[in-house]
Amino acid sequence: SHFWLHRRLRHLQSILHQVRTHEFDAQPPPSGPHGDELSTLLWEVHRTGQSLQTEIQELKEMESYRREFIGNVSHELKTPIFSVQGFAETLLDGALNDESVNRTFLEKILHHANRLDNLAHDLSTITKIETDELDMSNEAFKVTELFDAAIESVEVRAEEKGITPQQTVPPDLPRVYGDFDRLRRVLVNLVDNAIKYNEEGGTVQLEAALQADEVEIRVVDDGIGISPDHLPRLTERFYRVDKSRSRNQGGTGLGLAIVKHILGAHDRELHVESVPEEGSAFRFTLPTSPQPSLQPA
Ligand code: ADP
Repeated sequence: SHFWLHRRLRHLQSILHQVRTHEFDAQPPPSGPHGDELSTLLWEVHRTGQSLQTEIQELKEMESYRREFIGNVSHELKTPIFSVQGFAETLLDGALNDESVNRTFLEKILHHANRLDNLAHDLSTITKIETDELDMSNEAFKVTELFDAAIESVEVRAEEKGITPQQTVPPDLPRVYGDFDRLRRVLVNLVDNAIKYNEEGGTVQLEAALQADEVEIRVVDDGIGISPDHLPRLTERFYRVDKSRSRNQGGTGLGLAIVKHILGAHDRELHVESVPEEGSAFRFTLPTSPQPSLQPA
């Protein structure tokens, strides 16, 4: 019995050592949780080691995600800040009195300041959504209300591009359920992209159709399209097919990541079909009855 006791104490010691050195790969104690006090202690130590291991792993993943995110954010901040500095310095160095460039330089400063503003806005949205995921309302509303609100928000950009977004909604379509404000954001981001990645005078359609007990919502454009190899990564943060085109249009690379998050919180997915130089269709569904997983309005 002395030998047996000694063996189990050595086992306990080795598990604790592994926990301390973060190299936990201990085999479970042979006798499981129901034995004498020492077996139970061995089992508890083993379980504690396991859960510490999992927590450490999660913390490491969060840390590397955080580092990557901060790296991306500072990279995104650099270009507009350098540009604002550069144009302001050039103006102060004499270009201010040069009628042929002073206005253009000021417009460029404004453009980059707007980009910074968009970035700050999208970053705060994505952070809020990630930390506040449960706070979703579940209201009933008409799809036309959602489409109207989205179209209104992109009015200025649409006019600049000579595009008039069109709605196709069957008159007897039932109401849908979800968080109106957040879904408006989804639609704004999709319609905004359909305009941004389109030619002057292109077409943008917002369509809704009943499918069994769901309504499918589609945003369709005849713009530049996306080649198939880019499609799987489109909703990653800061992922863009054409970085300079996105930046010129004031894009942050966060729009579709926000869309994916909001739809995910509604238990919905974003689907994309696209053909380069022909156009793209982004679609998702919404329920026609309240979602049990969401809180009532
Ligand atoms: P961004 O701020 O760059 O528009 P998004 O996350 O909204 O970021 O979109 C990611 C990328 O997906 C865009 O940079 C663009 O390359 C591509 N994209 C999104 N929507 C469309 C579209 N309707 N047509 C073509 N490309 C698109």
